[in-house]
Amino acid sequence: MKSSNTTIPLEKLIEQLPENYSVADRELVQRAFHVAEEAHREQKRHSGEPYINHCIAVAGILSELKVPPEVIAAGLLHDTVEDTTVTLADIRRDFGDTVKILVDGVTKLTHLPRVSRGDQHAENNNNGHETEEVPIQPALLGRKEDIVSETLRKTFLAMGEDVRVVLIKLADRLHNMRTLGHMPEHKRKRIAQETLDIFAPLANRLGIWQIKWELEDLGFRYVNPEKYKEIAELLTEKRPDREAQLEVIKENLQKLLEKNNIKAEISGRPKHIYSIYKKMQKKGKAFDMVMDVRAVRLIVPDVPACYSALGVIHTTWRPIPGEFDDYIAAPKDNFYQSLHTAVFYEDKRPLEIQIRTNEMHLNAEYGIAAHWRYKEGTKHADKNYEQRINSLRSMMEWRSDVNDAAEFVESMRSDVFQDRVYIFTPRGDIIDLPAGSTPIDFAYHVHTDIGHCCRGARVNGKLVPLYQELKTGDQVEVLTAKRGAPSRDWLNPNLGLVRTQRARSKIKVWFKKQEDEQNLAQGRETLERELQRLGLNDINFEKLARDLNYKSPDEMFIELGNGDLSISKIIKQFSQEQQAEEIFEISPSHTPATSTNAIEVVGLKGMLSTMARCCNPMPGDQVVGFITRGRGATIHRQDCPNILQTKDRERLLQVGWGQVERTYPVPIKIKAYDRQGLVSDISNLLSDESINIADVKVNVNRSIADLRLIIEVKDLTQLSRILARIENLPNVMEAHRTNPG
Ligand code: MN
Repeated sequence: MKSSNTTIPLEKLIEQLPENYSVADRELVQRAFHVAEEAHREQKRHSGEPYINHCIAVAGILSELKVPPEVIAAGLLHDTVEDTTVTLADIRRDFGDTVKILVDGVTKLTHLPRVSRGDQHAENNNNGHETEEVPIQPALLGRKEDIVSETLRKTFLAMGEDVRVVLIKLADRLHNMRTLGHMPEHKRKRIAQETLDIFAPLANRLGIWQIKWELEDLGFRYVNPEKYKEIAELLTEKRPDREAQLEVIKENLQKLLEKNNIKAEISGRPKHIYSIYKKMQKKGKAFDMVMDVRAVRLIVPDVPACYSALGVIHTTWRPIPGEFDDYIAAPKDNFYQSLHTAVFYEDKRPLEIQIRTNEMHLNAEYGIAAHWRYKEGTKHADKNYEQRINSLRSMMEWRSDVNDAAEFVESMRSDVFQDRVYIFTPRGDIIDLPAGSTPIDFAYHVHTDIGHCCRGARVNGKLVPLYQELKTGDQVEVLTAKRGAPSRDWLNPNLGLVRTQRARSKIKVWFKKQEDEQNLAQGRETLERELQRLGLNDINFEKLARDLNYKSPDEMFIELGNGDLSISKIIKQFSQEQQAEEIFEISPSHTPATSTNAIEVVGLKGMLSTMARCCNPMPGDQVVGFITRGRGATIHRQDCPNILQTKDRERLLQVGWGQVERTYPVPIKIKAYDRQGLVSDISNLLSDESINIADVKVNVNRSIADLRLIIEVKDLTQLSRILARIENLPNVMEAHRTNPG
């Protein structure tokens, strides 16, 4: 049963859709609405509203960006797969591949344990759809921050893959921020801070001013409520006066431009609370000083008109030095274009002016999403979009190799969201770097090897220390050593020698490679020595590595060298692979031995056991172990009256008969400085391992003892262990297997 109030939001949504949508487009959105509405029917937001209102709001924000209908449909459905019984297969069946891919993309971004979620989601409610527990991926277990980092890492990677997914995520975040007041208080600040740190810069990077400013103001409102309130109140108070002043300024400007035959649309530029705050911080000025600055925006028909307007303005009022920026000739790295200037207006107070074309304006407001505002097939717009997508991809390129989520996010925060400086190479090429970069950062940016070999730098012809911060316009020449290596100091954040995550990652890779090479050599040596000791030749390392799940023998050696892999694990793998018969080719002089304790009781590993006198169990009988005080375990038949009657049930132990074990005679040689008790130590050790000695020859020459034994072992693992234990006895120099005969 549809409740009557659900039709109203649907109508509202349909009204908001871009006008150029066809009947089929509208129908797709309507269907998505009905599926989402049905799926979320029993869920409520923290505000108590029906959950579907959130989906509609997200779709509404996306409508303003004029994205294609599939993106709006995916916006409506964005929480269904995660929080309801709707599956991806359902979505593909009903809405096609594109919508499915988009919903899947958004779900993957949020498919993480509930604790980490910045989003506002319905808590489990008693009626209807219980939201299922989200399985935690083992790799993501750990600190909450790690999980958050992982979500962000995925968001950024998605940005390079399919920017539409990120648009949905941003719309989702924006609505969650608009309704943040309904969230429990302790969560508000964290979510707001994350919005300021990550999502607003993300919107900025995509050039979507419309979403960026609102995320910033909402974020600031919860991170610093007092300051927010203060600025907001001052703004309201001054508004009538400001607006009156602006009206006059606009009129004057309009007349001035008309006189010079320049058509322009002039608007007052709204100031946002967070940007006012940042300006106050940056310039250390009070509110009045910042707000004293009036700001207008001119939209003119074409690029030449931008410059003509600028010329007229500069000849009428005196420009303020250092305030002119030509972002038309040199766009910002989020593709923003405009002319910026500031002049002393008639009242001798500053007036900020932005001049741009209509197309630049759409780009500035909607960034990457401006693409969809142009009529289809507009070549220029498509090219612009492709450029943006390519720049996002190349920005993500080297980062996709960074597996550590925290490091990845840090790299975005420091390298991508920060302001940039533009540096010249000696040849005059321009390289852009995050603000705060040093000559070493620059060197790594030019080429990894130049980074490694960087020993000094000249900035604008003068030698400078390597920690010097570079400024826009600096010309940097890197001084290199012929054969150089990075220094550990470079990674010390206190020294400030390296600021970009990109350089940092490259230095870390270099050190890791050095370590790997050392570990590789050591691991190889360890393994070769052990194999020699066991008398094994012609080992296929390729196969051995594969069997142990390594991509290459080198990888296996490295892990062995750094201790992540033990030699005994390799030997164990090896003895599983190869038949004992092959390893211990039985020489004709020895008949296969039958083990002395041919029958062992399974389940009592390493524990002394005796057969019970009362019931005399025989191999094949059903048996049970009984833990005695001080004598290990006694083996009884399961039907033994003593067992059936015992009250100490907890002392019973499940056991079974083992297999008759086969052993193999192996000749070994031991070299030692002779001492008293050496032979008996060795034989004790062997009997401790239940190894039978088939033959012993002892030869002492100038106090060097040469022992030759034939021992009967079960397998390689046992042989390896026993040789290692013998070598650890006092005075023993070496113990290894010899050739039979
Ligand atoms: Mn959501």
